[in-house]
Amino acid sequence: MKHNYDVVIVGGGPGGSGTALHLRDTGLKVAILDKEKFPRDKVCGDGVSGKSSVILKDLGLFDKLLELPHGPGYGVWMSSPKGVDFIVDIREKKGKDTKPNGAVVRRVDLDNFLLTEAGNQENVDVFQGYMVFDVIKEGDQIVGVKARDKEGNIHEFMGKIVVGADGANSVVANKIGQFEKDPDHYVVAVRGYYDGVEGMKEVIEIHFVEEALPGYFWIFPLEGKKANVGMGMLLRDVQKHKANLKEIMDKIIKEHPKFKDRFKNAKPISEIKGWGLPLGSKRRKGYDNGVLLVGDAASLIDPFTGEGIGNALLASKLAAQVIKEAFEKKDFTKETLKKYDELLKEHLDPELQTMYRLQRLGSIKFLLNMFFDKLEKKPELRELVVSTIVSDDTLTYKKKLSDPWFLIKNLIL
Ligand SMILES: Cc1cc2nc3c(=O)[nH]c(=O)nc-3n(C[C@H](O)[C@H](O)[C@H](O)COP(=O)(O)OP(=O)(O)OC[C@H]3O[C@@H](n4cnc5c(N)ncnc54)[C@H](O)[C@@H]3O)c2cc1C
Repeated sequence: MKHNYDVVIVGGGPGGSGTALHLRDTGLKVAILDKEKFPRDKVCGDGVSGKSSVILKDLGLFDKLLELPHGPGYGVWMSSPKGVDFIVDIREKKGKDTKPNGAVVRRVDLDNFLLTEAGNQENVDVFQGYMVFDVIKEGDQIVGVKARDKEGNIHEFMGKIVVGADGANSVVANKIGQFEKDPDHYVVAVRGYYDGVEGMKEVIEIHFVEEALPGYFWIFPLEGKKANVGMGMLLRDVQKHKANLKEIMDKIIKEHPKFKDRFKNAKPISEIKGWGLPLGSKRRKGYDNGVLLVGDAASLIDPFTGEGIGNALLASKLAAQVIKEAFEKKDFTKETLKKYDELLKEHLDPELQTMYRLQRLGSIKFLLNMFFDKLEKKPELRELVVSTIVSDDTLTYKKKLSDPWFLIKNLIL
């Protein structure tokens, strides 16, 4: 079966739905194909950061998102290996009635919400249960994809541009020779849902506890005493230490002096599942003739925080901008599409590099403890670090954090 579209998007996660939503009102005929039937789970911390929220606000969707079951994100609680804690809560400065800058929303709900919103656009058709297994080429130009539906029928979806938004194991990235899993730039993480977690404060929690190093342990509060709990580590370190993340997490929950009482009455309410995070410290070339890659398919995850939804949404916005220009020029070759990589370089690379430096610093226990000692003494620095995650202008704060003079002044002097 053959289906003709202008743009064929592979993957209905935030990157894919985001691209379609940014193409609304363009008159372009858009298809989104996903191998799953929604609502479907996606292993994630479920943290919708300040950056994600800004893009969702621009799309007019943030208030609607908060109608889904969620935990509000008013700030961040961090702690160091030697036990220095700090909490930055935006309500302290802006007042208790201030609205949250972010939220914790289960991906089963978030992704279904975004895909439904995308599918509600007149120019967008959604095909669920369609597994893409190959691209279609005319010479050097990619002109579509082949997909298998749940009944085993083969479909050809033809489009001037194919968007690979198919996540960490992207078939599209693979087919254009961009798929790579570099253990120094790839994190593996596990997460489970718990009920009965005590002491949560409507802020996301990132704890650099000894057992999780060189990764971190998180508690992201949902409704009531429910939470998304997990930990992640660089693939290189997992391989080196033969680390079993599920076991380590279980040990932290049951034995760590900081957490064992908080989890005393907590019950797991899901399986503990793992998944990979391709980091933006080594992002992939995001374009080829007739193709763009967004989100995890392009390896865009923040190397320090593990945040990928915001970067997938940002990439979807930039991809849509380049797609519109390509249709205006009627040129779908890499000569036109390389503009997308230039935009990623301008809008994302500086912060990805800053966050990579922080990740490196965080992998050395002595430096991490020193960093937290400084944070404890310097409220301004504390607020800045937290603002890189939860503010509505994360980029400005990340830029400030990457200023060498600022770092010397705050970390050394
Ligand atoms: C444990 C863990 C915790 C994380 N925590 C956070 C967090 O708290 N906050 C945050 O911002 N980010 C977090 N991330 C990262 C975040 O999950 C990803 O960056 C984000 O999901 C990327 O969105 P995407 O649309 O690019 O890909 P995905 O969300 O992975 O969506 C890809 C879609 O493509 C579909 N697909 C895949 N292959 C095919 C195929 N062959 N044919 C058709 N469809 C296909 C899949 O079914 C899926 O629906 C975490 C990741 C992990 C693993």
